[in-house]
Formats: sequence, C-alpha cells, structure tokens
Amino acid sequence: MSMTRTTCPYCGVGCGVLAGADGTIKGDPDHPANFGRLCSKGAALGETIDLEGRLLHPKVNGADADWDTALDLVAQKFRAAIAEHGPESVAFYASGQLLIEDYYVANKLMKGFIGAANIDTNSRLCMASSVAGHKRAFGTDTVPGIYADLEQAELIVLVGSNLAWCHPVLYQRIAAAKAARPGMHVVNIDPRRTATTDLADMHLQIAPDGDIALFNGLLAHLADTGQLDAAFTKNHVNGAPVAIDAARASDPSQSGLTPQELANFFDLWAQTKRVVTVYSQGVNQASCGTDKVNAILNCHLATGRIGHPGAGPFSVTGQPNAMGGREVGGLANMLANHLELDNADHRQVVQEFWDSPTICTKPGLKAVDLFEACAKGKIKALWVMSTNPAASLPDSDGVSAAIAKVPFVVTSDIMEKTDTNDLAHVLLPATGWGEKDGTVTNSERRISRQRAFLPAPGSTRPDWKILSEVAARMGFGDAFDYQKPADIFAEYVALDKAASHIARDLDLSIFADADYARLIPTQWPRDDHRFFANGRFFHPDGKARMIAVTAPILAKPRFTLNTGRNRDQWHTMTRTGKSARLCAHLAEPYVEVNPIDAAELGVTPGALMTVESIYGRAILRALVTSRVAQGQLFAPMHWTRQCTTSGTVNSITTPRVDPFSGQPALKSNAVTVQVY
Ligand code: SF4
Repeated sequence: MSMTRTTCPYCGVGCGVLAGADGTIKGDPDHPANFGRLCSKGAALGETIDLEGRLLHPKVNGADADWDTALDLVAQKFRAAIAEHGPESVAFYASGQLLIEDYYVANKLMKGFIGAANIDTNSRLCMASSVAGHKRAFGTDTVPGIYADLEQAELIVLVGSNLAWCHPVLYQRIAAAKAARPGMHVVNIDPRRTATTDLADMHLQIAPDGDIALFNGLLAHLADTGQLDAAFTKNHVNGAPVAIDAARASDPSQSGLTPQELANFFDLWAQTKRVVTVYSQGVNQASCGTDKVNAILNCHLATGRIGHPGAGPFSVTGQPNAMGGREVGGLANMLANHLELDNADHRQVVQEFWDSPTICTKPGLKAVDLFEACAKGKIKALWVMSTNPAASLPDSDGVSAAIAKVPFVVTSDIMEKTDTNDLAHVLLPATGWGEKDGTVTNSERRISRQRAFLPAPGSTRPDWKILSEVAARMGFGDAFDYQKPADIFAEYVALDKAASHIARDLDLSIFADADYARLIPTQWPRDDHRFFANGRFFHPDGKARMIAVTAPILAKPRFTLNTGRNRDQWHTMTRTGKSARLCAHLAEPYVEVNPIDAAELGVTPGALMTVESIYGRAILRALVTSRVAQGQLFAPMHWTRQCTTSGTVNSITTPRVDPFSGQPALKSNAVTVQVY
C-alpha cells in the first residue's frame, strides 16, 4: 500500500508520519524530529479519521445551506459591520491547528484588506509569553537552538513542562541520550511530580509561580561566585548590572525550595557548561509569564550559554503550527514574516508587497481582550477558525456568554458539535488532517509538509480556500486568487525576499526554489543552524538585553488549581476522543488532590469534589495522590460541555493575563473545594 509522507497534527514536536488511506500510521524514519518514533496520540491517528461527527456541509442558522449562500452571507455581514462600525468591529480568532497557508491568508485579509489587526489565536494561550520574552531579550522572536542540543547537553533543565506527556517524542530523545550517556543530568522544575519526573536526577517542587525567585537566585549566585562570562556580557549584552541587582534583591526562598535544594541546583548549573533549559506552559501560562521567560534567558545570556551545541534556552510550543502562526503574523500584535506592526517602514513593505488598500496601524485585540470586547458589544462580526474558545479559554462560561452577544458569528471547523459551534450562525465545513495540503513549523524552526492522503469528504474545503472566497466576495478577489497552497507558500517566501533589507531572524531564502510537492522537512534559515553563536542579536545595537525582573509576591489561597493535559488527549478531544484506546487512559474528568488535604477534607479516592472559583465550578472525581503538593490541585482541561454536564475545568480558570504578552494565567487559580 502506498504511504504518504506527512506531519503529525498534534504537538509542536512536529513528528513525521507515514500515512495510508486505510488508516495505517507509522513514524517516518527519515524525519529529523522523530526518526520514526511516535507517541500514543500520533500512533492512534488512524483511529481518528472517520467521518462520525464531522461537519460535512455548510449550515446557516442550523439548516443545511449551499456554499454560495453561506459565503455570500459571511461576506455581506462582515462588509456591513465594517461599513457601519469600522474595521475594528470585526475579528478573527484562529488556531495553532491552522497550516501556514491558512494562517497567512487570514492574516493578510484582516491586516491588509480589512485594515484592522483583530486577528488573534489560541496560540496566545500557548507561547505568547515566550514571544514577548524573546523579543525583549533578543530583539526578535527567535528560538535559538535545535533539537540536537537536547542530545548534546550535559544538563537539561525542564521547567514547567511535563514533556513525557505533552512532547513525548522529545522526552524519548532525551531519555535515549541519557541512557547512552548516564553522566547527563536532568532537573525537573515543576510544582507537580509528573511522568517527566521519572527521568530526573533532581525534582525541584517549586511553589506555583516560584520560577522568578528561583532563576533570580541562580543569577545572583552565578554573579556572586564569579561564574558569569564577563567577556560575553561586555561585548554582546546590555542591562546585565541592573538585571543582576534585581536578581540579588530577590529572595530565593520564595521559590518554595529549601536552602539545600537551591544550593544543589545552583552548583550543578554553575559547574555545567552545556546547559539547555527547556520550558513550556508552566512558565508561559502565568500572570508573570514574560518575566519568568526573561529570568531564564538572563541566566543563559549572563553565562554565554546560548547558541552553542548543547547550550541555550529552548521554548517548546504546544501546538503543531504555533511557530508557523508566529512567522506569518497570526497574532494581534505582529505583522507577517516577523515584521513589526508598530514600525511604519515594515508596514509599508508589507502593504506594497500585498498591494493592499489599507494596512492596520495599531495592534489588535489579544485573545482575552477580544472576547471581553465581544461581551461589551464592540465586536459585530466574529469568525472563529479551527478552535473552540467557548471551551478552551479561561472563564469559558463568560466567553460563551460573550460570543452569544456577537450579532454574527461564523465558525470554520471539521466537527459539527462543539461548544463554540453551538453559538454560531454559520458553520463552514473545513477539511481536516489527512484531507488537506500545507505546511507547519515545529519548535525547532523546521517547516514540514502536511499532505492529503484521503479525499475531502462531503463539501468540505481547506481553510485558505474558504478565506479566499470570502475575500473575493468582499471585493478583494485579485489579491486572493490562489489556486493551490503552493501559490500561498511561494508568496510567503517572496514577501520574505521583499523584506530582506530589514534585519530580522526570519530568512526563508532556503525555500526560494523549493519544490513544494516534494518539500522535505527543512529548518530555516538553514539546517542545524543555531542563532547567536556569533554573539549578534537583533536589537539595533546588535546586543541582547538582560531584563531586570522581580519575583511576584505570591498569594497563598487555601487551594491553588493548576491545569494541563493528559498523555493521550489533545485539546478539547474532538479527534483524540474518537479513539477508544486513547480514551481508556484516563476516562473521565478528575482532580488530583494531596493525601493530607484529602484526609483533612474527608475525601476518599474516587469521591466527587466541587472545585469552585469566582468564575465557575465543576464537579470532578478525586484522584488522591502525592504527585501534587499540599494546598495544590491539578485537573486536565480536555472535557467540554459536549461530554460533561457537571461543569468544565475552564469554567473555573482565571482570565487574568500577563501584562506584556496577554497570555492568560491558566496555571494558578485560587479555588475552594467542597466534598460530597
Ligand atoms: Fe505527534 Fe507530538 Fe506525539 Fe510527535 S510527540 S507523535 S508530534 S503528538
């Protein structure tokens, strides 16, 4: 049977997959991200491609409609809202599930033709704090390293990352490297003991949001013991003295760790040249997420541990194309191709290249703000693409009420029944993984093809095509006359060339003559390239910035709820929920509670508990385990209103955001509990 070479649609590892039309799935031995490995989710992809529950035809107000009727209505409603209330009265909410081509077209339509920047994405929930931290430190949103660094490091520090469940193939690569080189150390910094902890030589069970106190303590220790790279900071870094003074002013005990634990970690870090710090949502999803990122970057910059084999900070992204979305400007505060929205020269380059009638001049609404604007009646037409904000955003009951207030809501999705689709006036059926063609960028800047190996079912269409057809109906047909995704990718690469006189990290010249049909997984700017090895950064003076960050005063509620993922589920389970094998892992909503707390509350294993915040409540089954510390709870976020009537976890979570990135603080929620 012929097998198609494609890419897994789940996490940001971006594993290569060989897929057959009969559902046969194998890891691609030639893909440099996974070398043939797959995790449980990737291996079960063949069990998720049936058509049960699929949205196969457009619907208008709940009734089947033909494409022309639905698209005419969408274009007419967006045009009318813009004409009456201005371009800022409409918004797109997109997804890290979209392919580069989809994202590029959505961004171009909103920013260059509608003329507002109200396009944000669920990637705001994933890595916006890393973007903001990178830009503050490096001048650009640059991931310095490559996956091979994980195998070349002597010390890997995993911060706020259950890599074993959330980026399993990277975890497998580290486990294999450690087995081959037992001298390699792994430190796991996490308020929970997780599957990832099993690999660690040291588990630092920090207080929630204790990361800044910890990394400020490390920086102060390195400075006070003469272990900074003075030549590197002198020649390549600004702001070191101020950042070090701020670090010295921090109290490392606020991390929640003992003096001995702190000393052990500081000494290990100081003694090890090749250190990679891998971080993920436990860092990003916090009201101080950007400062956490910079606290980590400060330590690498102060010691020159960046840009070299086995050394550097490494943000791993949750979604398959979170990086691609960043690259094509799919966030409300970015322009396409890593160009700056608030730079008039950059805007001019993009507008001239697009030959567009207008271009946004100020940032649009970030995810949480966007739905607050919906609640206030400021958004008159909303298009949600390939995501389910009524379930996945914090304060999801409030978000649902906000969406219900928007006069016109359109969704494009592969599934018919979702919490968000229930609130939409028009549903547009999109092709899904295995049915559509395009590209994605993984966490190490590697662009890989997703390829179709199944026919498009019903009357489904790819997102880029749906967007282009609406754009044509809004009067912008000439600029959206794409025949195939390769046309869009070529335009994306050509825009990069048109902006080549502007100093940026993004450099797509390696794709200039690429054969899209046969494109092999390729890293930009070139394979195996690490940024900053030469000490040159992207601030105008060529230097990096160390940022003075202050550890927050931590609130101490009786219970803090942390949220995250299960090993075998993805987001709101629209696809992984189809696999009986995956559902068997952890079959129902639950909350982890420490045995001492359980005894105090009178909770027995399997009892039902109400977990409640000022935003909402959910009834969850108690999983009594010492994986969580006293006073802390953990609950996965996968179950939506489609599959539980006892309240969802995101109805409890806080919409509080980081002031720099706008990323919500999904990890630290003050809650109360009640036991039945
Ligand atoms: Fe897919 Fe991520 Fe698993 Fe790889 S590690 S198979 S990309 S879910």
